[in-house]
Amino acid sequence: MAPSAAKPKLKVLLCSPRGFCAGVVRAIDSVERALAVYGPPVYVRHEIVHNRFVVESLRAKGAVFVEELSEIPDTAAPVVFSAHGVARSVPAEAEGRKLFVLDATCPLVTKVHREAEIHFRRGCQIVLVGHAGHPEVIGTMGQLPAGAVSLVETLADAAALVPKDPGKLAYVTQTTLSVDDTAAIVEHLTSRFPAIVGPHKEDICYATTNRQDAVKRVAPVVDAMIVVGAPNSSNSQRLKEVAERAGCRRAVLLQRASEIGWGDFGAIGSLGITAGASAPEILVEEIIGAFAARYDVSVETVSAAEEAVFFPLPRPLREKQAAE
Ligand code: SF4
Repeated sequence: MAPSAAKPKLKVLLCSPRGFCAGVVRAIDSVERALAVYGPPVYVRHEIVHNRFVVESLRAKGAVFVEELSEIPDTAAPVVFSAHGVARSVPAEAEGRKLFVLDATCPLVTKVHREAEIHFRRGCQIVLVGHAGHPEVIGTMGQLPAGAVSLVETLADAAALVPKDPGKLAYVTQTTLSVDDTAAIVEHLTSRFPAIVGPHKEDICYATTNRQDAVKRVAPVVDAMIVVGAPNSSNSQRLKEVAERAGCRRAVLLQRASEIGWGDFGAIGSLGITAGASAPEILVEEIIGAFAARYDVSVETVSAAEEAVFFPLPRPLREKQAAE
């Protein structure tokens, strides 16, 4: 290998916070703890978090991933619901089949479910700002009867919305949206329907907000930006968009170092790196390592916020822990 002096210099600006949020840590810990306490198999409905590396690691330890409960045989083994949350029909089906459920839905997603429910009980039509097909959106819409929730994905959807009664309207949002896009959509809804009721504090979670803030600081001052995360991870996709909008000409979403397209990173002198809330730090390190093999890398951290959020494990696991 060439001596490091021969390598081009590369300044890496590492966004902080990045990677795992408290909801993801709780979800992964729930599966790991269930495997330790009850032994394999532990069934997991949907990818516990949207990251292939995490899913494969848990699979290797005995987790069995399914998309629907119908794929699970009648069993006493635990069934973990993913961090994204589920429609009401899912726990109802599990109860009917007497499955042992460990609900790893992020408490911040559950909070949105409860908000939607309260608005509905007060007679409101609910507008959900979110992305169609995302499991969190399916779960939130599934808290209420069909037709009670209208999905708004874009400003155009907000402009086209025809509510049954504009005086009885409330909105909630997906937790992992772009802060700026959502603010524009909410502003539009509020200007069209001044009586619309919303959350006291927005539904976009602290982790999404903080990771986007860090990217906004780094993206304008680097030649390229890498977001470590999966293509089906909503918050990771949003980080890439935020980087582009903040002025970064080359922003890419990568799952692992093996996906780096070196042609994209030829003559760069600075590189920003962040990671979606479901991407483990080991993958960030792997990518920095790959750059260090080709560049003379110096790393600096750019911090937008300190995080100290912690969510306790689902109750059955806490009780098991207390009994030990
Ligand atoms: S991104 Fe936010 S809502 Fe989603 S799991 Fe993490 S903390 Fe919870």
